[in-house]
Amino acid sequence: MTTRRITHWIGGKPWTGDAARTGPVYDPATGQVTGHVDLADAGTVDEAVAAAHEAWQEWRHASLTRRTQVLFAVRQILNERKAELAEVITSEHGKVVSDALGEVTRGLEVVEFACGIPHLLKGGFSENVSTGIDSYSIRQPLGVVGVISPFNFPAMVPLWFVPVAIAAGNAVVLKPSEKDPSAAVLMAQMWADAGLPDGVLNVVHGDKPAVDRLLEHPDVRSVSFVGSTPVARYVYETGTRNGKRVQALGGAKNHMVVLPDADLDLAADAAVNAGFGSAGERCMAISVLVAVEPVADELVARIAERMATLRTGDGRRGCDMGPLVTAAHRDKVASYLDAGVQAGAELVVDGRDVHPDGEDGGFWLGPTLFDRVTPQMPVYTDEIFGPVLSVVRAASYDEALALVNANPYGNGTAIFTNDGGAARRFQHEVEVGMVGVNVPIPVPMAYYSFGGWKNSLFGDSHAHGTEGVHFFTRGKVVTSRWLEPSHGGLNLGFPTQQ
Ligand code: NAD
Repeated sequence: MTTRRITHWIGGKPWTGDAARTGPVYDPATGQVTGHVDLADAGTVDEAVAAAHEAWQEWRHASLTRRTQVLFAVRQILNERKAELAEVITSEHGKVVSDALGEVTRGLEVVEFACGIPHLLKGGFSENVSTGIDSYSIRQPLGVVGVISPFNFPAMVPLWFVPVAIAAGNAVVLKPSEKDPSAAVLMAQMWADAGLPDGVLNVVHGDKPAVDRLLEHPDVRSVSFVGSTPVARYVYETGTRNGKRVQALGGAKNHMVVLPDADLDLAADAAVNAGFGSAGERCMAISVLVAVEPVADELVARIAERMATLRTGDGRRGCDMGPLVTAAHRDKVASYLDAGVQAGAELVVDGRDVHPDGEDGGFWLGPTLFDRVTPQMPVYTDEIFGPVLSVVRAASYDEALALVNANPYGNGTAIFTNDGGAARRFQHEVEVGMVGVNVPIPVPMAYYSFGGWKNSLFGDSHAHGTEGVHFFTRGKVVTSRWLEPSHGGLNLGFPTQQ
């Protein structure tokens, strides 16, 4: 079988150099290697940063009208070609095509948000702060910004940052995951087709050496990172030590609390959808269900019943759940099934028994359900990032809340209840960045900001929304006086209002 070469996109075209290192790219539903991706060394990252820096000299002066014209055009192209993009995502990530389309749609929302950049960049103006003196604030781009994205949303996560960064007048070097790199290149082509000048968006593929170079390059002003918590912490610490502005979004362990008065059918549907969608490879997946007694037995039964109806298989065949991203990741996730049993959890549904609708070589693991999980067990403490849902039984609302708040992660959470007072108390008391009330995956719309608390985010700014605009710009305040014929006279005192 012939494999494709996937290379960098620098200065508006594919890179023509020879890579010293490459990495395999798989079709997770067949297990076949379908491509090899060039892995950038420091020199290649430098080429991309230089192209971005040169392009920025022009782009920083582009009028708001010109920038929004590009954004509207890229929105149109992404919309027209989203099916093609979704297929590319499925072929390298494995998620089912409808889910891939969903991530493109959520990414498009950020493009639409960024189309409003003229309004978002409006500053304040105060007339006559002192006699004959006006003061106003403006926000200006940072320069070259780095974006480093994970494998699980190869289109949506880059789109959380790239449209806002470009709309704000920056030039971008994007380093997507080396596991599913093609979506980023396809999107870079779309931006070029939309009229974005060469070099304003560059894509470099790679792993740690490429990331390290972005973190130390003096012309890279900021880094937006999304990935696992250990790497996020490293990126935050290294980047800030090098004087960069950094937002580093990390891992998650999202709890869904079900109170006794909840609609149990709604809760069971939600647990299955949010636990096993995208094979659990979502940072907002529900991985822990906290059942407040006496509903646990009933809830577990209803969830297991629904799981029996799920079809796991090739994402192009209309299945509910696809394979995991690589064989190594599948094996790691599967190892937690033994670990859970050894620790004393009850394995209600074993994903290893799955009969996938797909090739034998695919990286399969079916949906798995554990009951009677306790907070000391590895299935609870670790981010598994696969189709494994753990049920923890709690005696009361207070016990459930304490469990969520004691967890080192704080990305997303949800409460299922028909009691408005309990829901309101939960949203007030819970120490998590994104909260759902009878909504299992509370991913904010683009005009709000996305981000977690605690070990799920290092830095001060969340992604997109007004926080995203602030992250990609810096403020300036101008105090101005246009001289009238009279002269102010000499005064060496500190300026005060007159
Ligand atoms: P990862 O941390 O392995 O990789 C993320 C990025 O970092 C990739 O581009 C990768 O090439 C790079 N990288 C990997 N190891 C590195 C190292 N040692 N030094 C420097 N760079 C390195 O994460 P992943 O497996 O691609 O993605 C899954 C993880 O991302 C999960 O933990 C998930 O929770 C998290 N995630 C979080 C969010 C969020 O919004 N908080 C969103 C999506 C995914």
